[in-house]
Amino acid sequence: RSNAEKFEFQAEVSRLMDIIINSLYSNKDIFLRELISNASDALDKIRFLSLTDKEILGEGDNAKLEIQIKLDKEKKILSIRDRGIGMTKEDLIKNLGTIAKSGTSSFVEKMQKTGDLNLIGQFGVGFYSVYLVADYVEVISKHNDDKQYVWESKADGAFAISEDTWNEPLGRGTEIRIHLRDEAQEYLEEFKLKELVKKYSEFINFPINLWASKEVDVEVPADEVESSEEEEEESSKASSEEEIEDEDAEKKPKTKTVKETTYEWELLNDVKAIWLRNPKDVTEEEYNKFYHSLAKDFSDEKPVTWSHFSAEGDVEFKAVLFVPPKAPRDLYESYYNGNKSNLKLYVRRVFISDEFDELLPKYLSFLQGLVDSDSLPLNVSREMLQQHSSLKTIKKKLIRKALDMIRKIAEEDPDESNDKEKKEEVSSDNDEKRGQYSKFWKEFGKSIKLGIIEDATNRNRLAKLLRFETSKSEGKLTSLDQYISRMKSEQKDIFYITGTSKEQLEKSPFLEQLKKKNYEVIFFTDPVDEYLMQYLMDYEDKKFQNVSKEGLKLGKSSKDKELKESFKDLTKWWKKSLAASENLDDVKISHRLDNTPCVVVTSKFGWSANMERIMQSQTL
Ligand code: ADP
Ligand code: MG
Repeated sequence: RSNAEKFEFQAEVSRLMDIIINSLYSNKDIFLRELISNASDALDKIRFLSLTDKEILGEGDNAKLEIQIKLDKEKKILSIRDRGIGMTKEDLIKNLGTIAKSGTSSFVEKMQKTGDLNLIGQFGVGFYSVYLVADYVEVISKHNDDKQYVWESKADGAFAISEDTWNEPLGRGTEIRIHLRDEAQEYLEEFKLKELVKKYSEFINFPINLWASKEVDVEVPADEVESSEEEEEESSKASSEEEIEDEDAEKKPKTKTVKETTYEWELLNDVKAIWLRNPKDVTEEEYNKFYHSLAKDFSDEKPVTWSHFSAEGDVEFKAVLFVPPKAPRDLYESYYNGNKSNLKLYVRRVFISDEFDELLPKYLSFLQGLVDSDSLPLNVSREMLQQHSSLKTIKKKLIRKALDMIRKIAEEDPDESNDKEKKEEVSSDNDEKRGQYSKFWKEFGKSIKLGIIEDATNRNRLAKLLRFETSKSEGKLTSLDQYISRMKSEQKDIFYITGTSKEQLEKSPFLEQLKKKNYEVIFFTDPVDEYLMQYLMDYEDKKFQNVSKEGLKLGKSSKDKELKESFKDLTKWWKKSLAASENLDDVKISHRLDNTPCVVVTSKFGWSANMERIMQSQTL
């Protein structure tokens, strides 16, 4: 072009482009995410400026803050256009070539070591990822303060800038024309672009429109096309059903429908960024829909509950968390090796990762949701983010909110109430929530137990969420708080027993005296409960006492000493005769039995009989 000015890329940038061009990096898709992210940034900038200067947006289409994608299959061009702030000639020269960002050389170094290009965005050089798929790129840009310019480069160390006298005026914004390489022709397929936008940019805060083809039925006169006999037969059948037969119509040539391809704008990111909205303005229906798209769970079941909140201060983020209706089948099977977090991480509306285990502990990996942080650097990689100091704060707040959300399921569930009236109250409000906690418990109770084991900080909060049956609960679930509220005045410890089933436990001789004296005993029948109780030592200043273990105190009696004395010979003899052959610690006088004459008890720190059984079944 006659008016073109030539520039050389800054050395580091040139090196970076060489590496990208020759890269064997397989995930070339990332270029689209980077370009859309830039378009979105440019839109963010103009939107911000328009807050103080409304004129700046202009009128008509110009004021539409959107991103448009067009495909030209013949010319093999993919173009991405935004109505963002645009770039002046100066901007084009500086931003796209001559001023290396501080991160450039460190990125080049890193890329040479790892070959991983996914990091590119965080180093402020995301734009150049376009050369993963292109051998020639044109950037047409119009800034309010300047004329329209074209930046172009074949990544051969140089770029050119010309005043644009031949393209259509953009009004404002930037259009990137990507001349796709032969190996990158897949990016001319509409479905591919739809898939990528869904995957990486679904929650970009601006509409992303694709100039998409559409098959439409067009009516054309039938004489233009030969109509087959078969069709004529069909049409006569159809018309014979009508009351009045139009004989003329049968003879006369009719119209015929043919397929034709037309084009129209198709919105690709139809899911609104609801997390940015005020929770008060988001309907239940919207949350449900959002959950389905987020979790890719297209069943008709609704999430059990959700929590939508924002954190302010040192670390700013917005988050939506969902409790799904069902646990995935393999949730506990792969607990210790697989089990990725389902939380999607966004940084300023740009999707970063959905395999980010640093945001939630393992035991909460059943939650679905997203976090959108303004405090984290944009487009950073997993590796980089794992070290980011804000992350710990985010995680801590997320756990707190998640546990609050779960606690509320119980609070709002009338079946959970201690208050008999409330329990039986009938209202439609109530009914939606009724039974939700036991449903939650059935699906995810194990996660709460694993949480008690793993998360010492939140152990007490998690213990509040525990549910179990007891010797008095008549098949219903109860909580520790409810248990405590029913404790007898002289009772100090929380009594529990572990075993394989409630039926087995109810017959246990360990319960004889306790039942007779009207004490309530918690039944733990899940194998994980044995581990759980090794971590859960106390709750609200009350100790847990396994009633099959040593140490059970059912109130002292004045006869204790006397009994101990009078049976001394028997206990001594017993201890002596069993000590050699059995693993016996001691023989003691006990209050815990009623009909059964004697029972084998585990020492305070030993494994319960149930634990022995579990361990045995695991080694077999
Ligand atoms: P980053 O986005 O991290 O700054 P990039 O390499 O992706 O790094 O982009 C470099 C710069 O080019 C951006 O900071 C921006 O100034 C400019 N730029 C890129 N694309 C656009 C666009 N669509 N509209 C306006 N400016 C853009
Ligand atoms: Mg960028």
